[in-house]
Amino acid sequence: MLFDETVEGALTVIRRLPFITGRTAKKILFFLLKNRKTYTQELIKVLEKLTFIGECSMCNMPSSTDVCNICSSPKRSDRELIVVEDFSDLFTIEQMGEYNGKYFLLNRRLDIKNGVGPENLGIEKLIEVVQARRVQDIIFAFDQSPEMEATKTLIAERLRPLDVSLYSIAVGLPFGSEVEFTDKRTIKYALLNKIKID
Ligand SMILES: [Zn+2]
Repeated sequence: MLFDETVEGALTVIRRLPFITGRTAKKILFFLLKNRKTYTQELIKVLEKLTFIGECSMCNMPSSTDVCNICSSPKRSDRELIVVEDFSDLFTIEQMGEYNGKYFLLNRRLDIKNGVGPENLGIEKLIEVVQARRVQDIIFAFDQSPEMEATKTLIAERLRPLDVSLYSIAVGLPFGSEVEFTDKRTIKYALLNKIKID
């Protein structure tokens, strides 16, 4: 081993971060070592806090409080609810800065092979939220993978008996493959041109 065990161990863990190439991992390591008494200490503290964060009881967004800032905001309408796969999708839509309703995060997708069946999608909770808030419009903002299409179909079937209108964000757009990578203009277009699900 060329370097100290601790240094090598840190490099191995940094390399496991998504989107980090070998060269970038080394640069991050050098930065963390150089600033170990300042920035790195700060990073340890926030990361530790992050490991204890829970989920909002209404929308499942990561939150330190029982109800998150979006769900408890009196400025945001209960009328519209966007259903997303996870936090990164919510983040993308929020960056657009024009959506004024609320969200529901599934935090999973239908994946029978890996044990995620219809009963694991949290649909009961979604129905409870929709009824409690008297939501009128539900918009699915998913990527166009077969798994998410199946997830959407399944949830839509369960929501249909409720007195709500169901929509999907506009399809046939230059979406990379995920909502996360879509630019602001595209997501705005997708929401404005949402398609009604019959
Ligand atoms: Zn919430």
